[in-house]
Amino acid sequence: MTQDAPSFGFDTLQIHAGARPDPATGARQVPIYQTTAYVFRDAEHAAALFNLQEVGYIYSRLTNPTVAALQERVAVLEGGAGAVCCSSGHAAQIMALFPLMAPGCNVVVSTRLYGGSITQFSQTIKRFGWSAKFVDTDDLAAVEAAIDDDTRAVFCESIANPGGYITDIDALAKIADKAGLPLIVDNTSATPYLCRPIEHGATLVVHSMTKFLTGNGTVTGGVVVDSGNFDWSASDKFPSLSAPEPAYHGLKFHETFGPLAFTFHGIAVGLRDLGMTLNPQAAHYTLMGIETLSLRMARHVENAEKIASWLEGHAAVEGVTYAGLESSPYKERASRICPKGAGGLFTVALKGGYDACVKFVDSLEIFSHVANLGDTRSLVIHSASTTHRQLTEEQQIAAGAAPNVVRISIGIEDADDLIADLDQALNKASA
Ligand SMILES: *Cc1c(COP(=O)(O)O)cnc(C)c1O
Repeated sequence: MTQDAPSFGFDTLQIHAGARPDPATGARQVPIYQTTAYVFRDAEHAAALFNLQEVGYIYSRLTNPTVAALQERVAVLEGGAGAVCCSSGHAAQIMALFPLMAPGCNVVVSTRLYGGSITQFSQTIKRFGWSAKFVDTDDLAAVEAAIDDDTRAVFCESIANPGGYITDIDALAKIADKAGLPLIVDNTSATPYLCRPIEHGATLVVHSMTKFLTGNGTVTGGVVVDSGNFDWSASDKFPSLSAPEPAYHGLKFHETFGPLAFTFHGIAVGLRDLGMTLNPQAAHYTLMGIETLSLRMARHVENAEKIASWLEGHAAVEGVTYAGLESSPYKERASRICPKGAGGLFTVALKGGYDACVKFVDSLEIFSHVANLGDTRSLVIHSASTTHRQLTEEQQIAAGAAPNVVRISIGIEDADDLIADLDQALNKASA
């Protein structure tokens, strides 16, 4: 089943897209092609592959059949033209920016991001001569004002980590479009089951597949999906895609590959030279995880709605930021951007402050205190003392990770058991 079959429903595509019985053996499940290299038919075949005149397998840093099945599946679920898998979500973010940026260029990014992304954008990308301009994406005038001649992309998260904030993707896409720039949306917390950013105008979608897509805490992986909708040749801002590529005898990616230009560049230049490749074993786990994505996400949402409203009424709780709650300022936006629910991730602020948060996470029994989210298991983390530790208090507050805030990733266990666990831990924390 390929992208030519868009009439199938999500539940069918999450199982079948990208997968076909193995041509050599008939194996029904996608085999793990644990191989580094592929035998060329003859020297002419090898030359055609190396010149990008024929698509095929050369070496697993570039392409691998198990990884290719996953790329096709995620591209189909996101409604994109193509996708490139990478070794982690952070690798995917570099792979998304790499063809767009050059020394001196900047990306306009939301202040509400996963803590690791804030560090990657505010510190590490400077080593490449790139920079990030952080803006509150609810202030659309500020987003427009931040864009300058050196801006090459706008970046946000759909449901922003650590939860409770929904980005108005349509409004940002309009601004990016007017400026002739691609909008990149990190769709990790929502997954394509809850939100399809391309339908709201996103050019590229990135994921940490480590989270809900794999869904069971077994791998690190990432992916960049290209909508295929952006005209890379409309300006001279994206020469990696529109101008001749010296390493391929002057081939122009956009002219040659059209809507697949970004995907081909990601494989033929990005993976070839940056080497942030996903391994076939990890791709297999993620393919298995995606088979049940819709079932899991529906349960994550059902549990999160129940638990967030219970927490809101607890005496030790100051507030709950879950966009699915009636009290959330993002309730209306959530119903437009992610109509099937606001995800499984939110934060809870405790009246007892930093100390109560530490006691709370130490007292939980079913919930695990880990630096992860989007697992079948319920997880919790005190962001200010862990993932957001490197940030200033001002950055922590802007990112929704103030010292009195705990991030909760609701799993798919029995909601009543989770509530009982939260109750006993909250009572200990406030004693
Ligand atoms: C975890 C996460 C990342 C980074 O992904 P890794 O797979 O850990 O590299 C990026 N964005 C979001 C929203 C995340 O939750």
